[in-house]
Amino acid sequence: MAIPEQFIDELVARSDIADVVSSYVHLTQKGGNLWGLCPFHNEKTPSFAVSPDKQIYHCFGCGKGGGVISFIMEMENLSYPDAIRLLAQRAGMEVPDTGTDEAGRKKRARILEANKQAARFYYEYLNSPGGKRVQDYIAQRQISRRYAVRFGLGAAPDSWDELTKALTARGFSKMELIDAGLAVAGKNGGVYDKFRSRLMLPVIDVRGDVVGFTSRILPGEEGAKYLNTPETMVFRKGRLIYALNLAKTTKRPNLVLVEGNIDVITLHQAGFDNVVATMGTALTEEHARVLARYTKELVLCYDNDAAGKKSTQRVLDILKNADLTVRVLQLPNAYDSEGKPIKQDPDDFVKKFGPAAFEKCLNGSAGQNDYRLGDLMSRHDLSSEEGRLAYLKEAVATVAALQSPIEREIYGNKAAAAAGISGQAFAQEMERYRKNRVWQAKKRQERRDLTPTIRVQPRERELRYADVRSARAEEGVLRLLLLEPSLFPAVERLEPEQFSAPVLAKIYGLLRQRHREGRSVQLAALTGELTAEEMSCLVEIMDQPQVLSNSEQALKDYIEIIETQALKRGGSEQDPLLAAREKFREKKAYGG
Ligand SMILES: [Zn+2]
Repeated sequence: MAIPEQFIDELVARSDIADVVSSYVHLTQKGGNLWGLCPFHNEKTPSFAVSPDKQIYHCFGCGKGGGVISFIMEMENLSYPDAIRLLAQRAGMEVPDTGTDEAGRKKRARILEANKQAARFYYEYLNSPGGKRVQDYIAQRQISRRYAVRFGLGAAPDSWDELTKALTARGFSKMELIDAGLAVAGKNGGVYDKFRSRLMLPVIDVRGDVVGFTSRILPGEEGAKYLNTPETMVFRKGRLIYALNLAKTTKRPNLVLVEGNIDVITLHQAGFDNVVATMGTALTEEHARVLARYTKELVLCYDNDAAGKKSTQRVLDILKNADLTVRVLQLPNAYDSEGKPIKQDPDDFVKKFGPAAFEKCLNGSAGQNDYRLGDLMSRHDLSSEEGRLAYLKEAVATVAALQSPIEREIYGNKAAAAAGISGQAFAQEMERYRKNRVWQAKKRQERRDLTPTIRVQPRERELRYADVRSARAEEGVLRLLLLEPSLFPAVERLEPEQFSAPVLAKIYGLLRQRHREGRSVQLAALTGELTAEEMSCLVEIMDQPQVLSNSEQALKDYIEIIETQALKRGGSEQDPLLAAREKFREKKAYGG
């Protein structure tokens, strides 16, 4: 770890979890805990609890939990060291500089500088005679000079190493250019330019740094149509949003997500400065979290072909848990001279019908419920009885899943009207469906209650307990040690190897080691050494009640159970193994 342990311990001690969480979530006191709406999943009643005594947070809905560092990592979408830096800033502490950390920061700065100089190089090349073909292509796409400059468009020369030569002349090493994704190492030890003879679009993050490039092939050339910078220290496709640096200051009430990077430019030019795109990849939950920081409403505008519709469905599913209202802008269908539907993207649409028509589509974009119902209708033949029945079946399930009774009534009526039945009949069918679902859920719960071993298992499958009796006691030991560190001397003879659950053994081993070295044994101090799943598991353990009035005796009881169970397991598992080994040896000895 690059940041010294003592510093982290000190930082954790100075960062009260209730303080930190309250700056993101409105919390109210109830009993010994503070409660609020979970920031990590959508909910209407609070199931997110913060315990100032234990210095942990835990959501009973989605299971997320941890200490103050995990909270910042999850909330701000940061790596462990970055979360520490942010917390330190908050606490007014300075993170000590260490060698490796400093080296990482320097490398990052060099990559960003190389990218900036490359962007300038491509821009200058575009405006030189060599950039003529790319200029022509920009003109063909009807991108004005003003918008070409605003988006920093450039041209990569049709050459193997012109950029590499230019940047090495300015003091960058070939290794640095490879690290930045601007150059590629060849088989014979040479280094050549990653981008050749292409339209270059710099990708600028919200801080204004050029983190990489996306590029398009010129018409009539062979190769990948779009080519991005590979993943580097600063270019992470899974979280980058193209043009968010510009769209974040829009006065419009929402952000519009389109598929193509060039579409973004032409739409900005048409007056829609709220348009963004991902880097040619499918939208991830990480993208959704980033977007939710900049807007309350996201409008999806994918191509109106089958692939675009499929992407829309997928994105709607991903956005289900995001803190965003989602609408879907569907471009009207277009047909060729033979009446066949043709693919239409927002760029084509704006050019053909103008900004006002796009504005109208944007205003008329459907909420996701209307979109889902519309999509159902388009997939069934509503003129036939069979088609209507199949449609109704799916529509009932879709509408029944809506949380609010008002929404259920509105969309229920719409769905009923489309199938030509009364809203009342639809509502009845839906109530039956819902009751059935509730009944099924109740049955499932009952089954769970009857088999307690399922209930006491950690959520993550990999962390499931093999020996539940021992694991309960192991959890008890961890709980007591974290709540009352003065008990540590009493566990001197208990070894992690005696634990039955690997995850609990790992945590116990870490805690004991830390205590021996005189380091912090607070839960949050363990963040760097546990995975998010392990941390959630530990938080669930801490959340269970623990009587502290007779803790020494309780600890003794737990240890006894662990030792007895370990002996039992040892007895039943080792014997057959030993026997098998003996047999093997015998066989070998007698040449059998
Ligand atoms: Zn939650």
